Amino acid sequence: MSEHAARVLVVEDETAIADTLLYALRSEGYQASHCALGRQALAQLRSESADVVVLDVGLPDIGGFEVCRELRTFSQVPVIFLTARNDEFDRVLGLELGADDYVTKPFSPREMVARVRARLRRAPAAPAAPVEASEPGWKVHGAFAVDAQGLRIRYREVLLDLTRYEYALLAALLQRPGAILSRAQLMERGWDHASDSADRTVDTHVKTLRAKLRAAGAQDDPIRTHRGLGYALEA
Ligand code: CA
Repeated sequence: MSEHAARVLVVEDETAIADTLLYALRSEGYQASHCALGRQALAQLRSESADVVVLDVGLPDIGGFEVCRELRTFSQVPVIFLTARNDEFDRVLGLELGADDYVTKPFSPREMVARVRARLRRAPAAPAAPVEASEPGWKVHGAFAVDAQGLRIRYREVLLDLTRYEYALLAALLQRPGAILSRAQLMERGWDHASDSADRTVDTHVKTLRAKLRAAGAQDDPIRTHRGLGYALEA
């Protein structure tokens, strides 16, 4: 998939934000379209798919969460939520609904374009090709290899399709194999602000991460839960 032909749907009712975003995306060569309402966005996505959806949480007809929940019944298109500042509840719920990333308002158009680009780069276009151990940029940690620049991790030659949070979590565990990291420590490494919901958020992502490792062929769960303490990676 050519990154520059990628189609981005922006679902946002605030005209000023939508216009800024559309302008920034089009300047980078993306094919950007816009819906101001949730139902309109769902109808459009049913008839014509997008490569990435940027979805405002606060829409006037049905909320962004509801849109995402319904979207997931027929599409796995990457979703980047736009949320109001410091809305912890939104963030956790958004991630549980299968969003891939979120951006907090106010955001810079440049940051948003970078997030869109990162999602497109990680979208699995085809079964991931094995990565050579000797490939520059990859650092090997046992069965894992990390490309810190490209924000990618592979497990036994299989490239894992990780969200930003799963990547941050696994990369933090890999930095200190065998060491127990508390949920608060893991939260600090992967999230912008720690919060009361940190434990639940980390647990949610450990769960999805384990499922992906199983899918990549991990026989024994390499992430060990230490009750009341946190998580550690098998050394
Ligand atoms: Ca809004």
